[in-house]
Amino acid sequence: MTWIKIRFIETQRQGNVSWLFNRQACMHCTDAACVKVCPTKALYHNELGMVSYDKELCSGCGYCGDFCPFKVPRTTRNSITGMAKMDKCVMCTTPGLDRVSAGNSPACVKTCPTGALSFGNGPYCWLRAKSG
Ligand code: SF4
Ligand code: SF4
Repeated sequence: MTWIKIRFIETQRQGNVSWLFNRQACMHCTDAACVKVCPTKALYHNELGMVSYDKELCSGCGYCGDFCPFKVPRTTRNSITGMAKMDKCVMCTTPGLDRVSAGNSPACVKTCPTGALSFGNGPYCWLRAKSG
């Protein structure tokens, strides 16, 4: 499962070719469409504010992907069990693999070679908002 995609868009502007790169990943929306439409309540905001999910509750209906404005959640069907389940980024807060609660930045931030991603210092940071 790919949780982050860099979309490459080639466009023309005033006769010149422009290249645009767009990071397509979960935005962890505060007013999250995926959370609102999930019929089984599998999707939820965790205590840190990230949009997480309980895979056991997921029915694989795909509504979250249909309603997400960024088309992030992807539902795949297991070829052996026949069961469909949704997957998406949970900003490295998976129980047992929770980098953020352990005081680390998410893996994408840690590994970004140019430092284009930041975590924890922005004006819209959930952690800052929670700590006041
Ligand atoms: S899956 Fe889409 S709607 Fe849900 S929090 Fe992420 S970006 Fe927002
Ligand atoms: S695919 Fe799963 S997580 Fe998404 S809306 Fe359906 S039940 Fe909820």
